[in-house]
Parts: sequence; structure tokens; C-alpha cells
Amino acid sequence: MPFRALMLSKTDAGQSADFVELTEADLMEGDVTVRVAASTVNFKDGLAITGKGPVVRRWPMIPGADFAGEVTASTSPDWAPGDKVILNGWGCCETHYGGYAGMARVPGGWLVPLPSAFTLDQAMAIGTAGYTAARCVLALERFGLMPEAGPVLVTGAAGGVGSIAIVLLAAKGYTVIASTGRVSEADYLKGLGASDIIDRAELSEKARPLGKESWAGAVDAVGSHTLANVLSRTRYGGVVAACGLAQGLDLPATVAPFILRNVTLAGVDSVYVAKPDRLDAWEMLAETLDTAKLDALSKTIAFDDVVAAAHDIMAGKVRGRLIVDIDG
Ligand code: NDP
Repeated sequence: MPFRALMLSKTDAGQSADFVELTEADLMEGDVTVRVAASTVNFKDGLAITGKGPVVRRWPMIPGADFAGEVTASTSPDWAPGDKVILNGWGCCETHYGGYAGMARVPGGWLVPLPSAFTLDQAMAIGTAGYTAARCVLALERFGLMPEAGPVLVTGAAGGVGSIAIVLLAAKGYTVIASTGRVSEADYLKGLGASDIIDRAELSEKARPLGKESWAGAVDAVGSHTLANVLSRTRYGGVVAACGLAQGLDLPATVAPFILRNVTLAGVDSVYVAKPDRLDAWEMLAETLDTAKLDALSKTIAFDDVVAAAHDIMAGKVRGRLIVDIDG
């Protein structure tokens, strides 16, 4: 059966994104074939589709770093037709065809089961952004952070990682400070569970080696000067989980927070992390994430609108999370 896919191509004239019709014979190698129900738009999908970042390393490429759907064929011992599965990362949209297609084929080891707490659409409302937020919260806990230690800052708060990090931290009893460039979204952020809002401009210029001790922990999706300021204002013994680069890939910081305040900087990758860590993050999401809040921070867009949404996320115009309705 033919299905639609978004295909990115590169020629001397530049990069283009076109809807094409494919069959299963066109899919890449893998032992599990999945009918894709939904995908999502992460920052990385924005980088890939707009060409603003060197995400795609094999051309042509079907973008979409995530998908959720139902197994239609499997030679993997772990999966059978009818199983509901989630795919996050593993090079999808970089070197392996991703989720912006009616069908996908991947190695079975890349898939995780859909937790019973979520629908396929909700799994994509979470997507790599939400599961990365979960990994950041788990990293804070792994390095000993507890709600009694003091407030936790979330940067890039109105974005995907930020919005879900706020919901998770608030549910676990943390006092959350949200840093955003969209202070007009204060009501939205408070609705997710933030207690205080700060303007991201406060964190976006060159940092001093040490600043006022303002928070016990942080989830940073922004990098660059913002992460340097976050570190310099973290309390003695605090923990910062860094996962993103929305401001930049650089880190213009000093070692002062580490050697004078015993601050821990925990790096978080979600794309190539091993399966047990993925399962831990999805288990925590299933136990902790309020699905009413998840529904409130996400919205569904049509497959046809995914290119426009990729441009919007690069322009910082997407609030929360987008679900892409692939099979609708
Ligand atoms: P979003 O675009 O949804 O969120 C990013 C947010 O960052 C924006 O909404 C905005 O929040 C803020 N922001 C944007 N530009 C700037 C800027 N110039 N300076 C300061 N803040 C800015 O993206 P995602 O939530 O999907 O991803 C967030 C980051 O995390 C990205 O860099 C992404 O690549 C990274 N990531 C990393 C993963 C990993 O495995 N390590 C996995 C998933 C994501 P506001 O409007 O509130 O200021």
C-alpha cells in the first residue's frame, strides 16, 4: 500500500522538503515495520527541515525524530503485529528515515512500548522533548536534589522541554521558577505549575563567575550565556541538568561554581541513550505526568502543516508541544 512521506532533498540549488508517495519497499533496513499514527515537531526537526543546523547526514531523508504507532510486521522476538510502540531519536531524521511518513521500519531495539497511561497521540505530545525533560529531572534526583533544597529553575520554559519539565517538577513537589522570553505566557506557565517567572533577558548576557545564589537546581534547554548564568547563580551543592542549545552551543562560563560552590553539571542526551534509561524515563512520565496538563500544553496539527511548524519552532513561536497527525 502506498503512503505519504515528507522527503528532504539537497541539490546544488539548496535544500527542499516535498511530500512524496512511497511503498514499504522504499523503507530502510530494520526488523520491525510500524504504521505511524502520530509524530511531533521537536527543535531538532526544525533544524533539519529549515536546514539551520547540520542534522541530516544522509540524503534524501525523511525527517521526524519521533513516532508512535502500531507494529504491522516484525521478525524481532520483542515485537509482534498489533503492539503499540514509540520511537525517540536513534538517528531517525539524521541517518535513518524518521516519523514524517505513513510507515516506518527500524531495528526492534530502538522501540519502547507505549505505556498504558498514554495514548499514541499523548506519547507524541511528550516526544523527545518531554522524555528529555524527564531525563533531566531524573538526573537532578540522581545527583541528590530534593524539593527541600530550594527552587528549581527551568529555562526555555514555554518550549517543549521546558513546559514538560515544569509539570514534572511541580508534581514532584519542587518550587519551580520559569525563565522565558515570553512573559506574556506567565499564566500558561503558572497553570503548568511554575511559582515564579523571570525574563530570560536576565540570563542571556555574559555571566559573572559567581552570582547571587538563586536556585538549588535547574533544567537548562538553552545553553550558551544562559547556562553560564544558571551555573553562576546555583546555590552551594546544587545540580544543573543541561540538555539544549536554543541560545547557542557555546558555554562561556568559569569553573567557579564547580570548585567554590560544589555545583554539579549533569549532561543529558536522549538520542542515543541506552534502552534501560529510556524505559526509566517513560516509567517516570507514566507515574508523574498529569495527562490533563499534557493535553493543555499540546496541540494537534495536520501532516500538511509540518513544514510551517518547523519554521515556527525555529522562530520561537511554538508554545509547549505539537502532535503531528500522520494517519488522520
Ligand atoms: P522549543 O523550541 O520548543 O523550546 C526552546 C525554547 O528555548 C523556546 O521556546 C524559548 O523559550 C527558548 N529560546 C529560544 N531561543 C532562545 C534564545 N536565543 N535565547 C534564550 N532562550 C531561547 O525546543 P525543544 O523544547 O524541543 O528543545 C529545547 C532544546 O533542547 C533544543 O536546543 C533542543 O535541541 C534540545 N534537546 C536536546 C535533546 C538531547 O537529547 N540532549 C533532546 C531534545 C531537545 P521561551 O520562549 O520560554 O524563552
